[in-house]
Amino acid sequence: MGTATKGRTFAKLRPNHNIAEKKMKQDNAFAIPPDSPKGRVLAEKMDLLGLEVGALEAFCETMGEPTYRGRQLFSWIYEKGVFDITQMTDLPLDFRGRLAGYARVGHLQPDVAGADAEGTQKIIWRLCDGVRVESVRIPMSRPDGPRRWSLCISTQAGCAMGCVFCLTAKMGLVRQLSALEIVAQFLAAKNLLPEGGRFHNVVFMGMGEPLDNFEAVCRAARILTHPLAAGVSPRRLTVSTVGVASRLADFVREVPGAGVAVSLNASDEATRSRLMPVNRKWSLAHLLDVCRDLPVAERDRITFEYVLLGGENDSEADARRLCRLLGGIRCKVNLIPWNPFPGAPFVRPAGERVAAFREILLRSGLTATVRYSKGVEIGAACGQLADAARLREKGFPLAGGTLRAAPP
Ligand code: SAH
Repeated sequence: MGTATKGRTFAKLRPNHNIAEKKMKQDNAFAIPPDSPKGRVLAEKMDLLGLEVGALEAFCETMGEPTYRGRQLFSWIYEKGVFDITQMTDLPLDFRGRLAGYARVGHLQPDVAGADAEGTQKIIWRLCDGVRVESVRIPMSRPDGPRRWSLCISTQAGCAMGCVFCLTAKMGLVRQLSALEIVAQFLAAKNLLPEGGRFHNVVFMGMGEPLDNFEAVCRAARILTHPLAAGVSPRRLTVSTVGVASRLADFVREVPGAGVAVSLNASDEATRSRLMPVNRKWSLAHLLDVCRDLPVAERDRITFEYVLLGGENDSEADARRLCRLLGGIRCKVNLIPWNPFPGAPFVRPAGERVAAFREILLRSGLTATVRYSKGVEIGAACGQLADAARLREKGFPLAGGTLRAAPP
């Protein structure tokens, strides 16, 4: 984190500026129901979760402690996942006592956690204002070996981007998530892992458009990939975007080494504009120019995601156009056969068509993989995440599909 950012954060933390109140407004939006007696007490406190190492250092200084206490706090919270300040045993007792009276470390409770037979689990988090968001935990290894997992995290409740093939889009944007709420999904999901399990990959591909919530997403990504934190290397964290071209390069600079996945989903402007309204603002041609110039390291490649919609964007001509578009960009392509949801006017292409599409990419020298999303049956696959109650409110038909409502 640069000094400028550190300075800004520090200014927010000066005790005389009523830290607790300011931080509550900025960050503190969940965890303990505000109407519970415990919630009322804790609501007066500042939440340390979601703060970067520099901010925690500055915070400790304001409490008259040496700077390195901030790094200790950082690793208690993000590496060890300890939320109870009194249990942070290498901090002096007196400091722990003062800190616990003044601050807290929030956490999330899962509302519903449904798993399928392979272990893919959709976790629904209820935030303190009643808003629900979802994470998906996906097994990356066989059940009999040491278990490695991937975690898909939400960055917004709902989404404003309006992609017509995506269920989250039908919710509209409910609200932004704070850095705290993004990081908390990781820490709380880690606590739900079976003994010895760990997250090998983290993807910001759940609900929402990450680059539409830029500051919080960058902050959360920097926290999760910090060497003193949860052991996720930057290369194992990927942020997926509809292609907010104006923020792409900024993101690569703010979170160096993190993976970038860009959802293309069409091989021509007209189709892309029809499927993804964002294309009317940042065209395919412009987006690809930006991607060509992205300051990614020599060894890294951009991922292009391409949702295959039967009869819409899955022809051989589409595949050949895609090859031409991606010429000269160091990239790989991830094909995602469309995951259904009730009432959508799309079909998933047959396996042979997916294979034929991929074959054309491979023959032109591109790296191309197919992502058959896990968790389709439990509504946990790409593009299937949504709060059923909110969809109902918006008049979206839910009958007979893969969606399940969370209990009220
Ligand atoms: N807003 C971001 C991240 C969330 S969606 C983005 O658009 O990239 C993650 C991926 O799932 C995107 O590539 C998106 O195009 C894809 N997707 C959305 N709905 C889908 C669906 N119903 N089936 C398959 N993939 C879908």
